[in-house]
Amino acid sequence: FYIVNATKIAKEVGLGNRTSTALQSAFFKVSNVIPYELALEKMIEAVKKTFAKKGERIVNANIEAIKRGGEEVIKVEVPEEWKDIEVEENPFEGIGSLPDFVRNVAKVMNRLEGDSLPVSAFIGREDGTFPNGTTQYEKRGVAVDVPEWIPENCIQCNLCAYHCPHAVIRPFLMTEKEYKEAPEGTVALKAVGKDVKGLYYRIQVSVMDCTGCGVCVDVCPTKEKSLVMKPLQTQLEEQKRWDYLHNKVGYKKVTDPFKSLKNSQFAQPLFEFSGACAGCGETPYIKLVTQLYGERMIIANATGCSSIYGASAPATPYSYNEEGKGPAWANSLFEDNAEYGFGMAVAQRKIRTKLERLFRHVVENDYPDRLQATAQEWLENKDDYEKTKEILTKIVPMLEKSLDDPTIKEIYELKDFITKKSIWIIGGDGWAYDIGYGGLDHVIASGENVNLLVLDTEVYSNTGGQTSKASPTAAVAKFSAAGKRIRKKDLGLLAMSYGYVYVAQVAMGANPAQYFKAIKEAESYPGPSLIIAYSTCIAHGIKDMMFAQRHMKEAVEAGFWILYRYDPRREEKGKNPLQIDSKEPDFSKFRDFLLSQVRFSALQRTFPDIAEELYKKAEEDAKWRYNHYKRLASMDYSK
Ligand code: SF4
Ligand code: SF4
Ligand code: MG
Repeated sequence: FYIVNATKIAKEVGLGNRTSTALQSAFFKVSNVIPYELALEKMIEAVKKTFAKKGERIVNANIEAIKRGGEEVIKVEVPEEWKDIEVEENPFEGIGSLPDFVRNVAKVMNRLEGDSLPVSAFIGREDGTFPNGTTQYEKRGVAVDVPEWIPENCIQCNLCAYHCPHAVIRPFLMTEKEYKEAPEGTVALKAVGKDVKGLYYRIQVSVMDCTGCGVCVDVCPTKEKSLVMKPLQTQLEEQKRWDYLHNKVGYKKVTDPFKSLKNSQFAQPLFEFSGACAGCGETPYIKLVTQLYGERMIIANATGCSSIYGASAPATPYSYNEEGKGPAWANSLFEDNAEYGFGMAVAQRKIRTKLERLFRHVVENDYPDRLQATAQEWLENKDDYEKTKEILTKIVPMLEKSLDDPTIKEIYELKDFITKKSIWIIGGDGWAYDIGYGGLDHVIASGENVNLLVLDTEVYSNTGGQTSKASPTAAVAKFSAAGKRIRKKDLGLLAMSYGYVYVAQVAMGANPAQYFKAIKEAESYPGPSLIIAYSTCIAHGIKDMMFAQRHMKEAVEAGFWILYRYDPRREEKGKNPLQIDSKEPDFSKFRDFLLSQVRFSALQRTFPDIAEELYKKAEEDAKWRYNHYKRLASMDYSK
């Protein structure tokens, strides 16, 4: 039995949390599959080759990690009595309260014993669906350091929760009684704000679900930070507080989540603890959508990162609230995801048209007054989620009384469709700009009421970093090793050309409120909506994913990314539908922005002769695009 403190090595040599080279070296040292001296030589050779593009510092840090991994691995003598040691279950997983599926299927699969599951284990799941909300039982404890809240500095802005890629840090509201009954040592503040008066406020971290990315610390706006990173083992007590707040106190509906960004964070995220990379730029976008629309969402997800962290069997981060409602999710291919979601939308529309006919029949024929009034109410409000939700609760008992009537029976069988659903089509740039573009174009052209969320990392992230049509000029990726020569495709502009598609380009790290606004406008728009979200990714090669959100801000300031919203509804009021939301860019920062990411700076090392030329071209392209948008946004629509 051997151990090596690879985390310490990685930190000390300047590799942050990247432990793989130290661990690899330790493995070769103890396993002796080939002579260690030879392994050492080959590992160093490989590092030089692989990381040459990333610069000398990274190469040397990795060589240092390799040397130390081999030197510092220690053998632990196994005492005799360990032979009979009883293996305890992970106490954080919620032993005893694990749902059947998790205990009898998911955990078995996670032990790589899924082949041994009998067919009978799937009775009741013959249609192949998996239950939601299962990542919460994994409690992986993968972080080395996790945030600790410093209440005295906190201004209750909820930005930490808004930007956390993993829904791990959340604000909770407690009544005085709940606060008194909280686990010993729980500290809370008097909640600030009209709607939350008289309540207590606490930022709580589910430390066993935290990835330790540090994004929350970076976005916390207080001068003296209200969050500091502390070793996980010093914070394990927090898990009790999490259990209390999440399970007993829950998510109070005292504030309207649609009213402000701050309020939105008191709503329960129905997308939590995904296995996305620590600091992922994509996941916080999805999380917010689930806080606003989660209980009525139907999601079609393209293959890519978002489908992998969206449901890596057997666990899914899509969860449900106390009413048992949450997003319904399914994954399709790269090439047909928009069509897949379109099918869902058409099916909903067709079934609801049928419901409309049935309800009209009830109104126009001889039925009890109350039932007729409720049917009429539905006909008048069928596209209003809150109203249809109320109607559903009221009408089901009425329907149940008259199931021998064929019309009533039909309505009853379609009761799942009484509430208005929110259809989302989600995927990356590889899907939306590239392989699935034909379908996306077809779907937006159809005018169907769907919402398309494009998580734009500007590269095929999940398949290993191939260039896509979303990759910008000068970016190095597979198939454009010498930097991309042509500019990024403008997906937003193509969609705007229809005139009846809602389009927004966002970057939540640059302007969190603009994203919040865009999501609400997109969902409320009664036609196709397209949201293109700049998503920082490990494939960009930034210094530390802790700064993922900050990079979005820098991208916008430098003119690399523009924030805008195009709302066709404005045109009816004589206004220009296009609004640019970002400030006039400072193009003097453009080159520095590029050089802060390895995807661009690598060119200086590999193709120094063309690097400058391409950087200049990238800047010119960005200026051209900005000016183009400015001209469009200044057009007069009043006549
Ligand atoms: Fe969320 Fe990362 Fe902060 Fe953990 S460190 S709470 S995962 S933002
Ligand atoms: Fe408090 Fe900082 Fe979180 Fe804002 S971001 S709620 S100040 S801890
Ligand atoms: Mg991508």
